[in-house]
Amino acid sequence: MEDVTIPRTHPRYESLVTREKIVEGFKKGIVVPHGLIAHGRGEALDYILGEKTTEYAREAAEAAAALLMLSKKPVIAVNGNTAALVGRELITLSATLNAPLEVNLFHRSREREEKIRDYLTSLGASKVLLSSEEHVIEGISSARRFVSGAGIKTADTVVVAIEDGDRTEELVKEGKNVIAIDLNPLSRTAEKATITIVDNVIRAIPLLTKLCQSYREKPREELLDILKRFDNRENLRRALAAICQRLERLAYLDKV
Ligand code: ATP
Repeated sequence: MEDVTIPRTHPRYESLVTREKIVEGFKKGIVVPHGLIAHGRGEALDYILGEKTTEYAREAAEAAAALLMLSKKPVIAVNGNTAALVGRELITLSATLNAPLEVNLFHRSREREEKIRDYLTSLGASKVLLSSEEHVIEGISSARRFVSGAGIKTADTVVVAIEDGDRTEELVKEGKNVIAIDLNPLSRTAEKATITIVDNVIRAIPLLTKLCQSYREKPREELLDILKRFDNRENLRRALAAICQRLERLAYLDKV
């Protein structure tokens, strides 16, 4: 058997441990090969962003937490990558919000949905919804159109992460708020979401949970105010500008 022990002293320890989680998820049949490719794209963007939560990502997370506290029926969508990377953390967010987790897959099969549900249950999840062919989000051409009637179909706010943009736009068209966690500020998901947190799920989900916990007692007016001050387009612009500035700084580091 291959020895995958990563020394703590390795300069890329965190990134390698994260990669290992995705590979483990793949071996369990939770993550599909396409998920490995999506992870690689995310890794590259995170590398450029400096692998830390930026100020604008934090502001987006604050707006997302405010929106979640104001929502009547939030639902957290889970796919193979998010289950493998932040299964436990998603369960904590779900418990904090009293919001169900719903497995929703692009490469959908009942077998994989059940594997993800069983994996989350083994980590302590109490409520994991699966899709049903009776409930559809119109306009989505992929298998992601099948949703749970008790979950995404009737939700007012849906949290999505690490996915392509086919679904966010249609969820928004159905009148739902979408909170997306996506390291790519240029993706369709990032552009179409109500609030986009440009950050790695590994950092974004625990931050979002902490913010939701600390907003519990906040008056409604304050939550509305946080939301009103947030502009997703402007936040995405800042993400792109920060990437440019960081690269420029790195390029000329030896000249300053
Ligand atoms: P779109 O259709 O929205 O333009 P895409 O075609 O780029 O998206 P995918 O190839 O499915 O979508 O990739 C999923 C997205 O998830 C990518 O934008 C990738 O950067 C992002 N991503 C990958 N890993 C992570 C992670 N750990 N945290 C947050 N985002 C991630």
